[in-house]
Amino acid sequence: GEVIAVETAYASCVDPEEPNSPLDFCTFCLARCAAPLPCPECTNVVFCNEECRSNGWRKFHMKECPVYPQLRKLKFRNIEAYRIIAGQSLDEHRAFVTKFKKDEKISPLEQILCEDEICDSYSYRSVYFLENNIKSTDIKGLIACSIRAFVMTQLMIQSNRYFVNYTEDKNEPDEEDIIFIGSLFIRFLLTISFNSYQIIETHVRVKEVSLVSEESVGSGIYIAGSLFNHSCFPSAMIFFYGNVGVFRASRFIPSGTQVCVCYTEHYSIEPDRAIRRRNLHKAYSFICKCEACLSKCRISFSDWKTSLSAYKVPKLKIKSKRVSRNDNESTESLELELKLLITKFSFITLSLSSPSFDITNCLDLTLEMIEFFDRFVVVPDPMCIQVTTIFQEIFHQKGSCYFVNK
Ligand SMILES: [Zn+2]
Ligand SMILES: [Zn+2]
Ligand SMILES: [Zn+2]
Repeated sequence: GEVIAVETAYASCVDPEEPNSPLDFCTFCLARCAAPLPCPECTNVVFCNEECRSNGWRKFHMKECPVYPQLRKLKFRNIEAYRIIAGQSLDEHRAFVTKFKKDEKISPLEQILCEDEICDSYSYRSVYFLENNIKSTDIKGLIACSIRAFVMTQLMIQSNRYFVNYTEDKNEPDEEDIIFIGSLFIRFLLTISFNSYQIIETHVRVKEVSLVSEESVGSGIYIAGSLFNHSCFPSAMIFFYGNVGVFRASRFIPSGTQVCVCYTEHYSIEPDRAIRRRNLHKAYSFICKCEACLSKCRISFSDWKTSLSAYKVPKLKIKSKRVSRNDNESTESLELELKLLITKFSFITLSLSSPSFDITNCLDLTLEMIEFFDRFVVVPDPMCIQVTTIFQEIFHQKGSCYFVNK
């Protein structure tokens, strides 16, 4: 139970899929609101006090407020990425990214830690350099991510609050700005899918402690929290107070050993190693070699289960993509479906230059497309090329398509 670390999320958001959460929890600190304060301009989010309202408004909500319903409709953890980007102006992002270029070659830990080897939970450089697994993400993951980045960038333009007044005479982004922000979205959407924690509120009844229930509050990205590796027999667990994560030891940790948390299932909850490894590989692209998976666990399964229930802690889980693979679907029918989606998506690219273009009308199609790529086990090569062509059109033949091309 000893406290290992306490950290506030760099960026967090209330669960967009829970119908009541946005009005139960403060959108800035994720605390449960007894007397919520509304946003000055919308009825979509609430704040727990004046301080959160002014901080939340200034840091990100002002820039997301006009498009918040659309962001919420997109379901996936896009709001966190939007908030990371909205946290700095376009010029600031450009200056930082130019500065970070010289750090591309140094070790990952040096990239994340500050000069004095301290982990700063509020450092943009640290969140920029968190592992994004771009090299191990498969093509369908990259395509889905590019679609999301495209829609997010369009929403940012549509908000009319981000690309404004950054130079004297224009307040519309040019091609280069759009591509730059689009590729930042790809980066952060990937970072978030591998590092973000699901924030859970645990309900424990004093009289019946065995009845522990959980409520999803939202999700958050933590810099130090992202440095913990996974183990199916973890030595630490995370508890949340709003968007503040408290990492506590869940067993004795010998000096000099690594502190690990559990990303998916504890081995006592899912005793089948093959299932655990498959789930981890699907969500995080690695094969688990923890002591439970290598069968070096000395504690018997029943002993550990008893000791785990004594802690009365929730199962630590991070929402992973639901992939429903239907083996009956033939490649032909998938190809047909893809062709149809591409035709529909082409209309978006054609209407992009029109002044009346509204991405809101394309959100359902976007979701359809992302779900489709989730189902797609292997993308056939000729299809990849077609999709790439479309993205080249969308991103004006450079920028983010780099990833899709690769
Ligand atoms: Zn608050
Ligand atoms: Zn608002
Ligand atoms: Zn394992």
